[in-house]
Amino acid sequence: MARREKKVEEYDVVIIGGGAGGLTAGIYCGRAKLNTLLIEKSLVGGLATYTNDIENYPGFPEGSTGIGLMNLFQKQAKRFGVKFKLTDVKSVELEGEVKTVETFRTTYKAKVVIIATGGRPRVTGATNEEKFLFDKGISFCATCDAAANTGKDVLVIGSGDAAIEEGMFLTKFARKVYVSVMHDTGKMDCNEIAKEAALANPKMEFLWNTVVDSFEGDDYLDSVVLKNLKTGDSQPLKVDECFEFIGYIPNTDIFKGQIDLTKQGYVLGNEQMETNIEGVYVVGDVKEKFLKQVATAVGDGAIAGFATEKYIAESEMFHDQIIGGEITGVVYVYNAADAKSRELLTVIQELEEDNTDKFRVTRVDVYKSLGLANRLGIKEFPCVAVIKEGKVDKYIKNITKEEILASI
Ligand SMILES: Cc1cc2nc3c(=O)[nH]c(=O)nc-3n(C[C@H](O)[C@H](O)[C@H](O)COP(=O)(O)OP(=O)(O)OC[C@H]3O[C@@H](n4cnc5c(N)ncnc54)[C@H](O)[C@@H]3O)c2cc1C
Repeated sequence: MARREKKVEEYDVVIIGGGAGGLTAGIYCGRAKLNTLLIEKSLVGGLATYTNDIENYPGFPEGSTGIGLMNLFQKQAKRFGVKFKLTDVKSVELEGEVKTVETFRTTYKAKVVIIATGGRPRVTGATNEEKFLFDKGISFCATCDAAANTGKDVLVIGSGDAAIEEGMFLTKFARKVYVSVMHDTGKMDCNEIAKEAALANPKMEFLWNTVVDSFEGDDYLDSVVLKNLKTGDSQPLKVDECFEFIGYIPNTDIFKGQIDLTKQGYVLGNEQMETNIEGVYVVGDVKEKFLKQVATAVGDGAIAGFATEKYIAESEMFHDQIIGGEITGVVYVYNAADAKSRELLTVIQELEEDNTDKFRVTRVDVYKSLGLANRLGIKEFPCVAVIKEGKVDKYIKNITKEEILASI
């Protein structure tokens, strides 16, 4: 039987992942009139849809359900023309000007890829855990669920920085914070300062050498059975909520070997959400960052959407106006904030007026278009690049009319 040919579709931007970060990037890209596709493998809305109560997202003074909030995000993205495909991205090719995103049936080609694949909290794997995950007594987010546990007894699993710092935060609300630590008495994985503060906190009680055996309860978690690794004994501990902080697994398998990741597997990105590959941005929980929340994913998405629009516009300008065309090009790369750069603008202006038929002049202000300077390989300003046959023929740093004319 003949194998069915894979379809190929072309977009300006492909966003991988439809959580808060990806949806916000979609809203910004769609509104900038970019042909935008968002690919989501399970539920549009991402991790936020797992919670019934989002109380800290601004603009909703009475709070909102995760699904309710994310539906609004999706509706807004659709309003700006973002297309959605519900499928799993299997692999990507990110290098070069045209990126490739492969799904089972289709190959998507795009000028920009935005990575918004989020991650998942690591779980203990203990008996009955699945039954109580997220809204049934097992939480992964103290910022989200601490207030709901005011005056109650909670259990924290783990002893790393996140576990201990979040545990300390929980003591502001809860009556008692038990902490299950798998190591011997006094040995913890967190930093020394957090350790000292936690050990001195009267609301915290450490259960050394313990791991979770099972989670018990009917509809909601009632107790956690902890096994002592030294004695082998198992004891139930009655708690209102259990917080697991034993790690977070970013969804980055498909990017391994292509993009710079941290040791823990997060994608490295700068303040503009740029990764180490041009035209590839990263947003939300999958990015190495200080705080994983809807509000921060939204901020990332807005920046990446804005940066994408700028990158694509610069790319078009680079090909059409700077290196394209038959005629020799003179590109003046300058910094408008610098007096010398501004003075030389007059020289460039005169040169242009006297030679309109001989060469084409383009001005690039690095304050607005640093990306174009990078594409031209220019790091110091002011500088003139002479373009012949689609590439830089010469750089001129000592900018005079004579010097430029001699290079044409
Ligand atoms: C139980 C719980 C409660 C929370 N409560 C709050 C709260 O009250 N307030 C708050 O601000 N934050 C809360 N958070 C955190 C918040 O949900 C996250 O910070 C936010 O969802 C991050 O958004 P994101 O877009 O980065 O990633 P995600 O929401 O994780 O979305 C990533 C999406 O990418 C998709 N994806 C992954 N790989 C692929 C692939 N290969 N192909 C296609 N799609 C893919 C996934 O299916 C997922 O839908 C909570 C988290 C949890 C788990």
